[in-house]
Amino acid sequence: MLRDLSNRVRDSSLARHILSSKIGEYNAPTPYLTSLVVPGDTVNRRRFLHTAALGAAGGVVSGCHRSQLRAPVPVSPSACNLAPVLVSRDREIRTVVGLRPFRASGFVVKGEKLGEKLLIHNYGHGGGGITLSWGTSHLATALLPGEPLPSVAVLGCGAVGLATARLLQERGLRVTIYASELPPNTTSNVAGGQWLPFSVFESGKQSPAFMDQYLQATEFAYRRYQTLLGSRYGVRWVRNYSLRYHEFDETELEGKQSPVRRFLPEFRDLTESEHPFSRYQFVRQYDTMLIEPPIYLSAVLTDFRIAGGGVQVKHFDDISQLQQLAEPVIFNCTGLGARALFNDQELTPKKGQLTVLLPQPEVDYIALMEDDLYMFPRTDGILLGGTFEDGEWSLSVNEAAKARVLNGHAQFFQGFRRCQRASWARLYRNWVLQGV
Ligand SMILES: Cc1cc2nc3c(=O)[nH]c(=O)nc-3n(C[C@H](O)[C@H](O)[C@H](O)COP(=O)(O)OP(=O)(O)OC[C@H]3O[C@@H](n4cnc5c(N)ncnc54)[C@H](O)[C@@H]3O)c2cc1C
Repeated sequence: MLRDLSNRVRDSSLARHILSSKIGEYNAPTPYLTSLVVPGDTVNRRRFLHTAALGAAGGVVSGCHRSQLRAPVPVSPSACNLAPVLVSRDREIRTVVGLRPFRASGFVVKGEKLGEKLLIHNYGHGGGGITLSWGTSHLATALLPGEPLPSVAVLGCGAVGLATARLLQERGLRVTIYASELPPNTTSNVAGGQWLPFSVFESGKQSPAFMDQYLQATEFAYRRYQTLLGSRYGVRWVRNYSLRYHEFDETELEGKQSPVRRFLPEFRDLTESEHPFSRYQFVRQYDTMLIEPPIYLSAVLTDFRIAGGGVQVKHFDDISQLQQLAEPVIFNCTGLGARALFNDQELTPKKGQLTVLLPQPEVDYIALMEDDLYMFPRTDGILLGGTFEDGEWSLSVNEAAKARVLNGHAQFFQGFRRCQRASWARLYRNWVLQGV
């Protein structure tokens, strides 16, 4: 559709005028003022195309194009208009801490015998458990035997346990969740909630068999979350800006040759004239879903209960206690709890901390910086993150890390500059002819 429009605009006399014009120098207001004072008072890509379309519909091109040209144009907002986050200590509403259940070689999805019972593991998702939950749960539930089962047990009620439990219900099974903590008290509730299958394994430590599972899980999860878009589950699409001082390594997960590249729509690099991030020379955009865990987990738990699922609050200190469960099949979705319960010494905490500022509805993009800092715009607050403490078990707030995150974000957002001046012709080339 965009290409159709650009072709039509390219043919129009309006476009010829724009291309030949030497007078139009683009000078966007600062994003701060643009977004907070008069959001529409600038030339952005949407307005540019809209104006071109209206001009065309008004008679520049023949009337037979009218109805098509009036249709909404699905273009993305310009990065020139991004509202900066207002970072200050008095805007903080909370700081939360969680322990990512990390394994260098990646998550575990496999079945094993436990006496007479079948035990199916599904744990160790690191920093991507919200993202991959439906995908690894799909792999885990595929390990069920073919014969009919009276009931199934799921250990754990975080994102992974809930997705597993729901998929089992969809197969017509009676399911009971056993967990020591329920939402809102799980690690999954602490997560930022970006759909991005990163920080799940350490590069070089994963096996080809794991990569196969990882890609299958990513694909399934990507599709499944798209069925959950909307306010009931708190899932939406958001534009990401990934910022680097140095060139991207194109072989990494965020690179052009990444095996997950196809799950990052609108992927492209921005030129200096297209973004306000003054300290970063390399800027890559792509879209991801953002899942708001407090909304999402509560909604999925409700779905589980409506479908007849049972929940028992119970802590298992020892694997022998599992033998006492009535269910012949047990899914282990205990996250970091699997280290003690199943003696998995590779499983280790990666402590993460998020400082949450007052919500800013005008901020609707994600910023991912090379210095490990990141900002997620949630409806319950602006999340500022960027801590990954290996092997750290403490759940108390790390004040030094918090200061680093707050100062780093304050500098970042204060550093927003005007988009660099660009001629109309350059804008036209970048925005329309490249078909981005
Ligand atoms: C700061 C931070 C930011 C993050 N951001 C993201 C993000 O943006 N995107 C993303 O995809 N992921 C993110 N993550 C990672 C994500 O939170 C985890 O990968 C995910 O929560 C793991 O889910 P889980 O269900 O396996 O574990 P949990 O949510 O920890 O659930 C485990 C469940 O098992 C139960 N349990 C454990 N042991 C026992 C036991 N012995 N007996 C009974 N019950 C037990 C617990 O009570 C709980 O119910 C983030 C994590 C942190 C800390």
